[in-house]
Amino acid sequence: MKEKTNRVNAPQVMRTIKKLMSLAFLGYHFNAHIITRIFRRKRNGLKAFLQFYQRDQIRPLPREWGQKLPSFSACTQCRVCDTYCAKYAENPHGMAPSFLVGCLSRSLTDFDLFAGVPNCGDCTTCEKHCPQSVPISEVMRFMKDMKQQTTD
Ligand code: SF4
Ligand code: SF4
Repeated sequence: MKEKTNRVNAPQVMRTIKKLMSLAFLGYHFNAHIITRIFRRKRNGLKAFLQFYQRDQIRPLPREWGQKLPSFSACTQCRVCDTYCAKYAENPHGMAPSFLVGCLSRSLTDFDLFAGVPNCGDCTTCEKHCPQSVPISEVMRFMKDMKQQTTD
């Protein structure tokens, strides 16, 4: 008859030690996270953002505009809108609606480069004739809003 041995199962002991160490590690980080969340000084998120990205002239985009941005990029540069814009007819050397919409068709433009705000009377005539249904008057409002931010 075989004798029962009380030999220690080394791999099992190692597994248990590793498991305990993992739990201790997890517990430590969990508690540290909670404590730092409680005692961390609240920062002004917008202020911190602006300070960090000031040199790159990157600005936060208001949520409202962020949601509308995809609809601004449907422009095919047909320039139909230009022919209906009374403001552009008054000043053909100014910025055409198609130009301003085209500025947003790929990525956000550098608003600091614009010398002035778009000369738009918000009449919405242009967008009624846009074959792509681009909300052109909203694009104009967006450009004015972003330009305003660069001068604040
Ligand atoms: S906004 Fe519309 S009408 Fe104006 S250029 Fe673009 S697609 Fe044409
Ligand atoms: S909404 Fe603005 S850009 Fe469009 S036709 Fe009127 S003035 Fe021109």
